[in-house]
Amino acid sequence: MSETLQAHDTVLRVAVDAPQHSGLIDPLDYLSPGPLPPGSLVRVPFGRRETLGIVWPGNSASEIDPASLRPIQSTLDALPPLSRTWCRLIEFAASYYQRSIGEVALSVLPPQLRDLDSQQLKLRLKRAAKLPVGASIGSPGEEVSVTDAAGPTLNPAQAQVLAELDALLQADVPQTAPAPVLLYGVTGSGKTEVYLRAAAHALSQGRQVLVLVPEINLTPQLEARFAERFAGRRMVSLHSGLTPAQRLRHWLSAHLGEAELVLGTRLAVFASLPRLGLIVVDEEHDPSYKQQDGARYSARDLAVYRAHQEKIPVILGSATPSLESWQRANEGRYKRLVLPGRIGGGALPRVRLFDMKMLPLTKGVTTALTAPLIQALRARLERGEQSLIFLNRRGYAPVLHCGECNWKSDCPHCSAWRVFHKGDRTLRCHHCGFTERVPFACPTCGNQDIAPLGRGTERLEEQLAETFPGARVARIDADSTKHKGQLEAALQAVHDGEVDILVGTQMITKGHDFRRITLVAAVNPDGALFSSDFRAPERLFALLMQAGGRAGRDAEQAARSEMWVQTWHPEHALYKALVQHDFESFAKSQLAERASAGLPPFAHLALLRAEGRTVEVAKGFLDAAAAFAQQLPPASQVLIYPCIPMSVARVANVERMQMLVEAASRGALQHLLSMWMPELHALKRTHKGLLRWAVDVDPLAI
Ligand code: ADP
Ligand code: ZN
Ligand code: ZN
Repeated sequence: MSETLQAHDTVLRVAVDAPQHSGLIDPLDYLSPGPLPPGSLVRVPFGRRETLGIVWPGNSASEIDPASLRPIQSTLDALPPLSRTWCRLIEFAASYYQRSIGEVALSVLPPQLRDLDSQQLKLRLKRAAKLPVGASIGSPGEEVSVTDAAGPTLNPAQAQVLAELDALLQADVPQTAPAPVLLYGVTGSGKTEVYLRAAAHALSQGRQVLVLVPEINLTPQLEARFAERFAGRRMVSLHSGLTPAQRLRHWLSAHLGEAELVLGTRLAVFASLPRLGLIVVDEEHDPSYKQQDGARYSARDLAVYRAHQEKIPVILGSATPSLESWQRANEGRYKRLVLPGRIGGGALPRVRLFDMKMLPLTKGVTTALTAPLIQALRARLERGEQSLIFLNRRGYAPVLHCGECNWKSDCPHCSAWRVFHKGDRTLRCHHCGFTERVPFACPTCGNQDIAPLGRGTERLEEQLAETFPGARVARIDADSTKHKGQLEAALQAVHDGEVDILVGTQMITKGHDFRRITLVAAVNPDGALFSSDFRAPERLFALLMQAGGRAGRDAEQAARSEMWVQTWHPEHALYKALVQHDFESFAKSQLAERASAGLPPFAHLALLRAEGRTVEVAKGFLDAAAAFAQQLPPASQVLIYPCIPMSVARVANVERMQMLVEAASRGALQHLLSMWMPELHALKRTHKGLLRWAVDVDPLAI
């Protein structure tokens, strides 16, 4: 099938989306009638089909006879090539997270790009260039004639932060990358204003700005503020909620250098930005920056890598930084800049711990709506203020229960309960999706008196409506916002003051700027205190601080703003720190615990997971993998723990096991993984019944 080899044919490396386990050398070699610049998009034969590929930098090292190579079919030459730094970012991500270059490279391009030929692409390029914009756009070297809106006069703390940022940028050795900046300040301390100023600075130099946010739908205000400040500039968003056509258009606009601002979720860290001058990572601690399948990358960490490589500043902003970033700042590797208080002197809400042990107990029945909380809510209703109640569990009740025979609504396919959803009268498994109508009677003994145990947001919403007839109660969680536009509508209603009490999961704790909220209540947050996941307290603290940040953003309301925490463990150090709004002492004690337990950021982890039809198969694979690893030279610097079932061990009739790998040095861990992983593809073939395996480097949840 290969055509006759011409004397002038060149061998080029081309990254294609070949599965990692194919055993193919990555990138693959192809013949080209002449050289092509690295980063060029091409169409190549792959197996029996034709696929999109990227000409990869570097020379082929394979010893395949060129005569047996297949030729590149066509070049999408309408598109400027992807840059070398972009290719290097991909190479780094692939090697660090143990995936193939081709897989990572192709998976982060807009999917529509795969199906276009050169003609269609030209058309799209024209459209991308026509994205609406208010005023003229500068291109490289051209004078930029846009005046950005001015913004408020900076307060002294902001001015100082910006002066320090400027100093970092004007480092005497322009060849070295500026240190990453950790911008630390509570909600409302003016971080976003700092991002806006730093962005204005980069834009005025004709550079592009990349702003990463955890979830774009939850933070419409940030987008609105950038759009308002930079009304004359071209801004695009990049996230998974776009239609394929939008995503392509926005991506092209960034790649062509026409979009000056790109605002996006984690996948935007891979945007092609030829004149990138600044990266902002807002809420840098947020778990959604970590991709949870495929290449399990951390967009925050890749942003830091990318900024370093491109020698540009990166700002990581948070009121509760990740302990990884906090520790790097402690070590002086990141530059910590602090905004110490709320703008306008607004106080943070007073945190009140309500000791559940003080409640008179009736028959062991607990309640989320305690009498004092009801009182506090009533006071808000009377004053026309809003309240927000946070309960991190959706559905009506986590389980249905029969008091006669002890039947519980377990999922037949998972080691988990099915959740009772009263709205559509279903029992729904949140792991495999298995859904049935609620039975009229106990399926085991026929008892008609089966009752919900525990409480989810749906039930709390119902109880609130019963307790406060006439109050406007709304709920925001994954169930109530399934359909397009529902979330935006609900947020708008709260914003417009059409809601008195808002109930929801952690979705409601994120960046919304609700101005009339004076009470935030966490009714049942204790679970995270005793989780087997060592990061659970860190996440809980961040969530509660963030939830508290929703209250009292107007100075005059701040005075009567409260954060209410119902707990069985008011003496817990986490809550003690919360009462003081004291992230720093919380971080200090957590870091001390992590250091003595040898956990991140003082150690580096990878998690090897295996899924099989039986526990034996999954375990057999992991045990064999461990035995193999022990033979590798870096094994002496790495600790491999015995494998254990995942916290939900069985999902959809698949047994799931995991094995933790720990090393004191990142280098040793990476060294081991790079020698180990390729062998596991072969090992899988000898373990019949093994469905999948995957490695998670720097896993977030253990
Ligand atoms: P954060 O991002 O830390 O939550 P913001 O930048 O959103 O803080 O600032 C909080 C509020 O204060 C916003 O409404 C913002 O417009 C306003 N603000 C920020 N900086 C100033 C300033 N220097 N002067 C007046 N208002 C400001
Ligand atoms: Zn029963
Ligand atoms: Zn299930």
